[in-house]
Amino acid sequence: MLKIYNTLTKQIEEFKPIKPGHVGMYSCGPTVYNLPHIGNYRAFLFNDILKRSLSFLGYKVNHIMNITDVDDKTIRDSQKEGKTLKEFTEFYTKEFNRELELLHILPPTQEVLATDHIQEMIDMIELLKAKGFAYEGEDGSTYFSISKFKEYGALSGVDLEKSNQTLSRIVSDEYDKDNPQDFALWKTWTSEDGENYWDGSLGRGRPGWHIECSAMSTKYLGNHFDIHTGGIDLTFPHHENEIAQSVCAHGEPFVNFWLHNEHILINGEKMSKSKGNQFTLFDIIQKGYDPLDLRYFVLGAHYRTKINLTWESLDAARNARIKLTRFVQDTEQTGEVIEKYVENFKEALEHDLNTSEALAVIWEMIKDSTFSKEDKKETLLVLDSVLGFGFSKISKISLPEEIKNLIQKRDEARVQKDFGTSDEIRAKLESLGYDVLDTQEGTKVYKN
Ligand SMILES: [Zn+2]
Repeated sequence: MLKIYNTLTKQIEEFKPIKPGHVGMYSCGPTVYNLPHIGNYRAFLFNDILKRSLSFLGYKVNHIMNITDVDDKTIRDSQKEGKTLKEFTEFYTKEFNRELELLHILPPTQEVLATDHIQEMIDMIELLKAKGFAYEGEDGSTYFSISKFKEYGALSGVDLEKSNQTLSRIVSDEYDKDNPQDFALWKTWTSEDGENYWDGSLGRGRPGWHIECSAMSTKYLGNHFDIHTGGIDLTFPHHENEIAQSVCAHGEPFVNFWLHNEHILINGEKMSKSKGNQFTLFDIIQKGYDPLDLRYFVLGAHYRTKINLTWESLDAARNARIKLTRFVQDTEQTGEVIEKYVENFKEALEHDLNTSEALAVIWEMIKDSTFSKEDKKETLLVLDSVLGFGFSKISKISLPEEIKNLIQKRDEARVQKDFGTSDEIRAKLESLGYDVLDTQEGTKVYKN
């Protein structure tokens, strides 16, 4: 039985889907105005592990993720670069999807663009207006009236009464938790928007950020669905506003389980542009790491704890991942699945998705001398459907004939204690991109 922490109720709860065996899951996707930093990728890795775990536990998952391709930042930066909004956001969407692949993050069932759903957003805003939850401000924009929704603040803990202020209105998408405000559902056109507007019943303008996720999740998952994920920083105002919009528009519960992942710290500090420590995946690759090292690093900690990334900790993740990879490569045959370890692994996941515990189970199995290497490999391949390191692909890669010949020649030279030739062949193998290890069973090589 899967138990998971629900931000809405502030406790670990038994997960029960609305429709037995099926899970509807929505994840806030990226705003495509730059390359995501690795802190953003923790959220996407979390989505992936959650989705893979749900599938592993037998659920059929319908996963929707949006792409925010119209908002304050995309408009501002596309104009700076002299590109159309579409040109600009298509570039970053493509890059984002390429990086997801490098991290072995499975694509969502559907990845949906905000700009393809403007009419759905307008319809929802009209519904809110008709029900008295939205109004037009004197600036022509349409706002959500948060004081009309008595449960406002249930997710994030914002207390409207305590905030003790006359509620004001805000057009910009992001604002502070100490300052809850009536937020813009539809932003009336201003000259800063340039060519980026839509005409319709709400007048010339563009949607606010929050309505986007409410309208799209409803379209693909219905008014009421199982899981909504996002980074912890999205709790307020974004997710609070999503709840307000959806519950008020449809008059029924919105999401049963709200799951949020914590931040990545860099050398103990919060990532920020001003500190210059906002690393992208490209930065990590340039430093010589495999994107999967970051995947291992993220899996090594519970998703609700802050994790501190240092180069030493990434090195440790890298070494551990390489060890597992080599174990798979070195074991030619597969055997029988070891049920005991599958069970322990499953138990770790069912306990609020405890991936660090799940990895500990893997290492316990690798060290367990009562089972054969072949059985361990078979088990690892099964559990990799959650871990996502791609071990089954690795295990099928065979060495080219040229390399096999070099290894054989080197082993012969070593037997004859011809270390000159043995060193020469090592250098040759390394120049071809292979790591060379001397073991009791002879020369072993691994592709870098
Ligand atoms: Zn969202």
